[in-house]
Amino acid sequence: MRLELSTDDLAFRSLAREWLRENAPRKRAPHEGKTARDFALSWLSKCHAAGWSGIAWPIEYGGRGFSPTRLVIWYEEYVRSRAPSVLDCTFVGLNHAGPTLIACGSEEQKAFHLPRILAGESIWCQGFSEPNSGSDLASLKTSAVVDGDHLVVNGQKIWTSYADIADYQELLIRTELGSVRHKGLSWVICDMKSPGISIRPIENMAGVRHFAEVFYDNARIPLSNVVGPLNDGWRVAMTTLGFERKTAAMGLQLDLSIKIEDIIAIAEPVHGSAMAERLADLRAEAAALRAMTYRALFREPKTPSDGSLVRLYFAELSQRLHQAAMDVLGAEALTDNYWSHEYLEAYSETIAGGTAEIQRNIIAERILGLPRSA
Ligand SMILES: Cc1cc2nc3c(=O)[nH]c(=O)nc-3n(C[C@H](O)[C@H](O)[C@H](O)COP(=O)(O)OP(=O)(O)OC[C@H]3O[C@@H](n4cnc5c(N)ncnc54)[C@H](O)[C@@H]3O)c2cc1C
Repeated sequence: MRLELSTDDLAFRSLAREWLRENAPRKRAPHEGKTARDFALSWLSKCHAAGWSGIAWPIEYGGRGFSPTRLVIWYEEYVRSRAPSVLDCTFVGLNHAGPTLIACGSEEQKAFHLPRILAGESIWCQGFSEPNSGSDLASLKTSAVVDGDHLVVNGQKIWTSYADIADYQELLIRTELGSVRHKGLSWVICDMKSPGISIRPIENMAGVRHFAEVFYDNARIPLSNVVGPLNDGWRVAMTTLGFERKTAAMGLQLDLSIKIEDIIAIAEPVHGSAMAERLADLRAEAAALRAMTYRALFREPKTPSDGSLVRLYFAELSQRLHQAAMDVLGAEALTDNYWSHEYLEAYSETIAGGTAEIQRNIIAERILGLPRSA
């Protein structure tokens, strides 16, 4: 699929390219802790000051209401300029929490949180997964009872990215006693500094501590922080996941096109060699992923399961591409360098945001119309 760009779109591309060339940080973003937070917030506030934060958000909520075409152009220029990865600690606020508040939040919640997210003044994390409720999110057990005008929360979340440096959490909990599955859940704004919340970072195999276990021991959350009606959290959570599957990962998907060119430049493959063929295949696959990304964005009618196709292809291609980088580097791959770090991180692509098996189930059932798996 090719994008048809108007003269105005091309002018917009030049503007974005120019601004990114002059302003995108040259040094790599730190991976964890306060330095990661400071770096990401400072970059986002710079984007915000120049009108490049949340550009597809509605104008009334501080965005610029740009069309999907402009968003694609922005992300293309963003990855081309080698600006910091979009998957940093500002990701949940900009791509999940903010859009969910716009869709389901009260006027007070929007007025307080949206400007802070856009301006790079608050970090959000996502508290959905639990030790026994990952793929099967509806089986979650962390619960709360109403006490006056507060909820009192007890339980545990896990794999919460950037929990240790977040200000707020989109927290999904069971608020109706004895309820099961999708019923009786609520989506609440949790202030991560509330008494009763403790955070234990988890180190991943790349040696980075960017996610954590979060424990709630009689943590009190005002009822005014419930987004949407109490006990209607599943609907709100599906709204959140809908945003996650739409355009949130576009920057990562397009980034593979840049990464493969970088690997080819390092490899300098001999024409006709096995490595040249392998890298050419990966370059073609990265182009195919771009086409799939555009198609998912512009095709009508849209279905929620379109995102699973793109997500699955992206995740597995990312792993193949980083494996190729390791093979190109040879012995150097064993040292601590950018590519070895990215290779180890790529293992999580087929887990985070829904595992490859779950994406395959969705594709099989909802797109191919096959019977449900046992
Ligand atoms: C880098 C990273 C960041 C993350 N960040 C967050 C975050 O910020 N917030 C958050 O809430 N969560 C986060 N997660 C958690 C993520 O959403 C879960 O890991 C994911 O949903 C899978 O759940 P699980 O780990 O409990 O695995 P399980 O659901 O226990 O699955 C274990 C295995 O069984 C397979 N399986 C399960 N059910 C089926 C089925 N029906 N059919 C076929 N196979 C099945 C799975 O595919 C998997 O291979 C993150 C995960 C990673 C890796």
